[in-house]
Parts: sequence; structure tokens; C-alpha cells
Amino acid sequence: VKQAKASGRPEVYEPKEASLARRRFSIETELRRAIESDQLAMSYQPLVNLKTGEVSGFEALARWNHPDRGEISPTEFIPVAEESGLILHLGRWAMNKATETLAGWDAEARERLPFNIAVNLSAIQIARDDITEMVGGALRASGLTGDRLTLELTESAIVQDPRRATRVFDKLKALDARVAMDDFGTGYSSLAYLQRLPIDVLKIDRSFVSGMMTDPDSVAIVRAVLSLAEALGMSTTAEGVESRELATTLAALGCVSGQGYFFARPLEQAEALPFWLSRLRPAASKRY
Ligand code: C2E
Ligand code: MG
Ligand code: MG
Ligand code: MG
Repeated sequence: VKQAKASGRPEVYEPKEASLARRRFSIETELRRAIESDQLAMSYQPLVNLKTGEVSGFEALARWNHPDRGEISPTEFIPVAEESGLILHLGRWAMNKATETLAGWDAEARERLPFNIAVNLSAIQIARDDITEMVGGALRASGLTGDRLTLELTESAIVQDPRRATRVFDKLKALDARVAMDDFGTGYSSLAYLQRLPIDVLKIDRSFVSGMMTDPDSVAIVRAVLSLAEALGMSTTAEGVESRELATTLAALGCVSGQGYFFARPLEQAEALPFWLSRLRPAASKRY
């Protein structure tokens, strides 16, 4: 916009801004309706153990198929939900949906399935006092034990109020849930929080992982994160594993699990159990 003004042609850009603002506003109104009318769906992306090739968990990722606009990406509607406060509503829906689904799979398989479900929590949810009641309520309603649940948080949940975050994380741990630091390495918080907070898993951000094949610096960063995690007794997941080569390189470096299009895209609910089965005890000679 500044450039446009400097060149004396603001009119070329302002209509676009206005239409973006309009889209944002209607997304907010329609998202409210979408949550209430069940227009949102949950997809499930597998996390694969890089040593055994088996599925160790699924990450629940919200999907919005808009009747007129088609698929709207969470990278667009989650920020709108956060700014409008709708994230509390959406977050509760996501937690209930994901836990209900895992309990349903257990029932279908007639066993306690050997994997977890990961649910993303926004910093705004962490800033609320009722977050542990929300998570505890979903566990009770689904009948799952807390150890079946991984909560994915970003560094933004910590930076605003680290002392509060410590209290909340401790309460979530008391439910027996695992805590994963999402997009690790992209936020603004200091490393000191790794020492103070009960973090179980570091999810290495996709930007470092996808750089590994071409950029030695990315390899160095991934190596450093893996050894840091190991020293602190944390597990590791690499995001954005898009090739076999990346999967084998990460496995050789000691990364515990991987997630990415090479293994699977986020799957529809009905596709998840078949995927888990298809990867069960694969021949040791060809893991992926
Ligand atoms: P995230 O938690 O970091 O989730 C991983 C994102 O990376 C997902 O994008 C996933 O589809 C994508 N991804 C996975 N593997 C690959 C790969 O190999 N290559 C590439 N290029 N991308 C890959 P998605 O589903 O668009 O979600 C974007 C973000 O929206 C998520 O990032 C998360 O921060 C947020 N989000 C999604 N669902 C929820 C939700 O229910 N609650 C909250 N609070 N946030 C959510
Ligand atoms: Mg995540
Ligand atoms: Mg992530
Ligand atoms: Mg992300």
C-alpha cells in the first residue's frame, strides 16, 4: 500500500484491500454458522515411527468445505477464528470431535489402539482458565484416558505469559496428556522454556525439514534440535516429510517420527484405520 501511495496510484490497490476485508468479515460470519451447522470436518494425518514404519498417531486438522467458496484453508480461517474469539467454540468442537473419533476407532477395532490423537490448541485457548475443564470434559465424554491425547501448542502460547503457561501446562499434564511444541524453531520464545515446561515432543518445523536436501544449514539445525531433544528426554517429530530420501535421512539422524505427504496427506475419517492397518508390522527390509 505504501508503495502504491508513493507512486500515486493508491486506487489500484485499495479495492483489493477492501475486498480482502470483506472476505475476512464474511468468513467470520459464515464460520460462526459453519461451526453450528456441522460444515466443518476433521481430517487425520498419520505420524509414522521412522524406525518401524508403523503409525504412532494422527494429527487432527480441521477442514472447511464451504458450499459456495469450496475448501477454505485453516491457514485462512484459524487466524480469523482467533481474532474474533470463535476459536474457543471451534477449539471445543475440534477437541470433542477428535476424542470421539478415536474412541469410535477403538470400539470398531475392539481394542485400545496403540496410537494417539493430536489436537492443536491456540494460544488464545491456553490463556483461558477453563482450558483444563474443556480438555478433561472431552476425555470424560469419550471415555479415553489422557495418555491417548497429544496437545499441540506453538511458542506463541508461552511468550505472552510464561508463568501462566507453566501453570496451564502442568494442569494439562495432570490429565496425563502429552504436550508437543508445534512448528518448533519458528517462534520468538527463549530456549529457557524447554527447561521449565513439561514438553514431551518437539515438532521440527517444516521449513527446516524441507530445506535439508539443498541447504546444509538446515541439516545442522535439524541435527542440533534432535540432540537437544534427546538430551532433554523429549521425543521428536519432523513435519513436512515429502520424500523417501528425507524419511531415511531423518531416521538415520535419530528423529523418532515423521509426518508429511510422503507418508500420507491428511485423511478422511474413514481412511485412517485402513491406513494404520496397512502399515502394521511392515517387512523390516522395506519400512517405507
Ligand atoms: P500445523 O499444526 O503445523 O499442521 C501441519 C500442517 O502442515 C497442516 O496444514 C498439514 O496439512 C500440513 N502438511 C503436512 N504434511 C505436509 C507436507 O509434507 N508438506 C506440506 N507442504 N504441508 C504439509 P493445514 O491442515 O492446512 O493446517 C494449517 C494450520 O492450521 C495447522 O498447522 C494448525 O496450526 C492450524 N489448524 C488446523 N486445524 C486446527 C484446529 O483444529 N485448531 C487449531 N487451533 N489450529 C488448527
Ligand atoms: Mg499441529
Ligand atoms: Mg506444525
Ligand atoms: Mg504450522
